[in-house]
Formats: sequence, C-alpha cells, structure tokens
Amino acid sequence: MSTRAPAVAARDLIKTYPGDVTALAGMDLTIEAGTVFGLLGPNGAGKSTTVKILTTLARPDSGTATVAGHDVLRHPDRVRRAIGVVAQKSGADPVATGRENLLLQGRLYGMRGAAVRHRTDELLARFDLADAGNRQVKGYSGGMQRRLDVALGLVHRPEVLFLDEPTTGLDPEARTAMWDEIARLAGDEGLTIVLTTHYLEEADRLAERIAIVDRGRIVVEGTPDELKGELRGDAVHMELRAEGDTGTITAALTGLPGVHEVAVDGRRVSVRAGDGAAAVPLLLAALERAGAAVAAATVARPSLDDVYLRYAGRRFAEAEATDARHIPALTPAGGAR
Ligand code: ADP
Repeated sequence: MSTRAPAVAARDLIKTYPGDVTALAGMDLTIEAGTVFGLLGPNGAGKSTTVKILTTLARPDSGTATVAGHDVLRHPDRVRRAIGVVAQKSGADPVATGRENLLLQGRLYGMRGAAVRHRTDELLARFDLADAGNRQVKGYSGGMQRRLDVALGLVHRPEVLFLDEPTTGLDPEARTAMWDEIARLAGDEGLTIVLTTHYLEEADRLAERIAIVDRGRIVVEGTPDELKGELRGDAVHMELRAEGDTGTITAALTGLPGVHEVAVDGRRVSVRAGDGAAAVPLLLAALERAGAAVAAATVARPSLDDVYLRYAGRRFAEAEATDARHIPALTPAGGAR
C-alpha cells in the first residue's frame, strides 16, 4: 500500500442537473497514487460528471474532492497543473500539425524553448507520431488523433491523467493499439491513470482497480479478480420464450441444490451454480414446472457483467439501453456547471 496521499479522494459528491436529473447521488472515491483505476458504468451512470468535477470543469452541489492533494473547489488552478485530461472530444486543432499542437499545449503550461521542443519530440516518438508530426491533424486516422490527444494530456508531466472513454469510436485494431499504449503509460513512474469506460473488457484489461458506477454512485470496488472471485461458481443464463411472473420464477428456482443468486430480468433469468453444467437440467425442469419455457441456456465463468448484475440488479447492456432512451428528453442547454 502506498504511503503517498491518494491521487483522488472524493466524499459524498452530489450533482443535479436542471430538469431534476440526478447525475451523482453521493459519490465516494479513493484512488491510490500510481495505479490505473477504472470507473466502469453504463452510459448515463455519472462517470463523466465525476471526471468533470475532479478536473474542475464542473462544481458539485455538495461534497468535497481533492486531486493530487489539492482541493478542487479551493485550489482549482493547482489541480489543473497537476492533471492531464483527455476528453471524449479531441481538443487538438485540426488545421495545425501534431507538433504545433504539442508545442502550443506545452507553452500554455509555461514550458519554453528547448524544454518544450524536447518534450514534443519525445511524445511524438513515444506515440508513434514522429513521421506524422509535421502533418495537419485533420489528415490523421482516428487512432492517430486519439494518440495525439493522450500525448497532449501528458505534455506538462501531470501526476494524474484522466482518460474519458479513451477508445470510444475507434475500430477494433486501433482500440487494441490504444490499450497497449495505456498499459505502457501505466508503467510510468508515479503516474496515476483514471479511466472511464462503458466497455467491460476495457476495464478488465487495463484497470488494476475498478469501481462500478450505477445511477450516480459506486456500487462496488476492487480488483477485477476480486470482483469476479466474489461470485461463487458459474453463471447460468437462460432466455425464456416469453416473459413470466418474476415472483413465480424466482420461487421455482430458489432452493434448488447448488443454485443461488437467482435474478430475473424480463425474459432473462440468471443464477449462479457451483457446477453450472450439472445445474442446467434441474433449472430447465423447475422452470417447466413453473410454466416458463426456455429458449436458450448458457453456462459461463464469472465476468464483470455478472458482477454488475449482482450489484446493480440488472444487466450492463440493459442498463445502457434503458439509460440511452432517457437522453433525448434532456435539456441540452443544461450546461455542465
Ligand atoms: P456517463 O459519463 O456515465 O455516461 P454522465 O455523467 O454523462 O454519465 O451523466 C449522468 C447523468 O446526468 C445522465 O442522466 C445524463 O443524461 C445527465 N447529464 C449529464 N450532463 C448533463 C447536462 N449538461 N445537462 C443535463 N443532464 C446531464
């Protein structure tokens, strides 16, 4: 355990947007320095709002937060010097070259002369942009632009780097390349990386610790292995032919030998079982007795999706679909402050 102050310490952050949208409902977060920390949650869970507050772009209605030891409300300028931010939307100037973007960014942070030129060359090389450095950014591929964004966030050698959905919009190949890049960054001495993502696989691969965010608060936190390890046995997922009565189905499956944690979500029924394959015939028979016909059944080792289901009470993909439906109803003029 590190003896340094935590890179991030947030207590009971509350944030409501106009129209009575609760974005954060008591967010508590501690991130140790020098780690890669993943905030994982479906769209609308409150990840970006958390990052906006921690990066001083928005104020909470109440609650406190420090980043790199500085209070976000009392010393936002100190926080800004200590952090790098890679937002979902690129901040790079498309008609300037990659090199010009980096030089400008460095100068904005007060770097001058040979120091900023040297840092620019170093970052261009490091992010495989040396050849493209003198070309306009608008000609870059999605992956190149994203790598430049990360380089821009690192120019002034921040202590904490925030990456908001770093691979959204990238094709699979560029996504894998970005994952390798982030994994390499994690080796940088002392750098803390706070990553938000709605990709289960991304969090699983990159983050040493994960906090699962749902409806504006953290529902569970730990290493990916700890979280998955808490789920005993296999996951058995069944798809019913038609939606049944939740109470009847739950009652039919609860108490079957070796079966626990029954969850019914529309036509999807999930349980955990010590031996998933052995439990399937028992489950199918019990469901048939309860009048629920099963269209498909699968057995799987625990995944982060199962962890999410257990703590949030619904599936990750379902939460994405439900929350996405709410988005058009929002007032876009609500503003981030
Ligand atoms: P995430 O990053 O996990 O997708 P957000 O922090 O963006 O979640 O959003 C949390 C909730 O706050 C959602 O319901 C979202 O629609 C709402 N929200 C976010 N920004 C605004 C805004 N500027 N105005 C109104 N509502 C917002």
